[in-house]
Amino acid sequence: MIGENMKVAKPKKRDKADKNPHGWKRRWVHESVEDNEGIADFASGYMDFLNTSRTEREAVEYFESLLLAHGFRDLSRDPTPTLEPGCGFYMVNRGREMIVGVAGEESPENGFNVIATHLDSPRLDLKPLPLDGDPDTGLGLLRTHYYGGIKKYQWVNIPLSLRGRVVKGDGEIIDLGRLDDSIFTIPDLLVHLYKKTQAKRKLSDGIRGEELVALTYSGKLADEDQRRSPVVGQVLDHLHERYGIVEEDLISSDLCLVPAYEPREVGLDRGLLGAYGHDNRVSAFTSNIPLVDMVDEGKIPRKWCFTLNLDKEEIGSEGQTGAKSAFLEKSAYNMLEAGDGTTRRRDLIRSFGRSYAISLDVKSARNPLFKGVQDSTNSARLGCGITITKYTGSGGKRGANDASAEMSGEIRRLYNSGDIVWQMQETGKVDQGGGGTVAKFLATRNMDVIDNGIPLLSMHSPFEIISKTDLWMVYKAMGKFLGDFRSS
Ligand code: MN
Ligand code: MN
Repeated sequence: MIGENMKVAKPKKRDKADKNPHGWKRRWVHESVEDNEGIADFASGYMDFLNTSRTEREAVEYFESLLLAHGFRDLSRDPTPTLEPGCGFYMVNRGREMIVGVAGEESPENGFNVIATHLDSPRLDLKPLPLDGDPDTGLGLLRTHYYGGIKKYQWVNIPLSLRGRVVKGDGEIIDLGRLDDSIFTIPDLLVHLYKKTQAKRKLSDGIRGEELVALTYSGKLADEDQRRSPVVGQVLDHLHERYGIVEEDLISSDLCLVPAYEPREVGLDRGLLGAYGHDNRVSAFTSNIPLVDMVDEGKIPRKWCFTLNLDKEEIGSEGQTGAKSAFLEKSAYNMLEAGDGTTRRRDLIRSFGRSYAISLDVKSARNPLFKGVQDSTNSARLGCGITITKYTGSGGKRGANDASAEMSGEIRRLYNSGDIVWQMQETGKVDQGGGGTVAKFLATRNMDVIDNGIPLLSMHSPFEIISKTDLWMVYKAMGKFLGDFRSS
């Protein structure tokens, strides 16, 4: 009889991780990590950083003072020193973008280990002439134009803080924000009167762009013949008294409203972190701190490694501080010169072609309230570690980098060899929507690139949620990638 003598293969013993109810190879970070004290300390340092860094400029300032305190050299001011292996350095572009790195043992021509993140977050920018006053109510108003993809209805009825820079007529620079703890807010319509108007709108239209107008002053009522509310004059008086600013100065400014509340631990076990701006300053923090560790510990990486902390990601990576800018090339020339003394374009192109990059950004986690939008197997859970995201994009991977099998394999091997808890992730179901990252812009430089990230709930809202244990795991993973990837 056919098959009579055939051996029946015994079913293989299942991998321990397969028993996890959350799916294939998904593990809880807290079951794999013992160092609870390290996790708590790291999370509290991160919350301090987020609290003081609410814009890309403030984040650059934070990192710059941290790096200087740890002996990093500013290559943008001093572009041609020779850097010894293990030496930390950084370069700043226009106060809003920065590269942070450590010189390796090998020549930089052999390629870099790169992590790309971004420092900008969705927010409400002020219009160039934002001041308005309502003569009828006597209230002063600030009109805004939102930055990045937001659900506008989430930005009303919360305390907002005014941040940013004003360049005055005589060229003097004024930085608002830390100077002023004034609070602003956008008043939504009361539930008692919304049924026949706002309640009829679609959710996406519940608050419209032109309705994102913040209260800025409670002044006095106008005389009948006044075109503008006298409250505008009062706001201008206040700005002039306090900062010497006149209305025309506001045209030369980068001012925005951002959530004013502090980052907080969330949940009875305090295992989650709620804050404005996790996207994507969490990635900048978890990848810059390992470079500081490396310098502090005197560890010399074999390969040169750096982080690229970008601006303008939320509006398409445009502009001179975005991922499409030549700042990356300019900085790479500085590194090549500091390492090898070369400034040849061929060497730069060769170096980029031998480089490996992680595009580190927040990733959609599974939301228990809206499970329908994601594929259970291919979505991330809070607390189950760093995500390996082969591709992002939407509508058939459009706009995605789509990492190669080889690059995905290298990262998987690296994490498995270093006790890094990771999980696979995809944004949502195939035809559900999607989004992109800066991965594709690094790939155009001929680097091997893959997306990784920290799982997050409530993305682009004024209060985003991550898990403390994931925060720790991403930090560990980035240290491993920067220092050890393809170095043996
Ligand atoms: Mn992001
Ligand atoms: Mn984003």
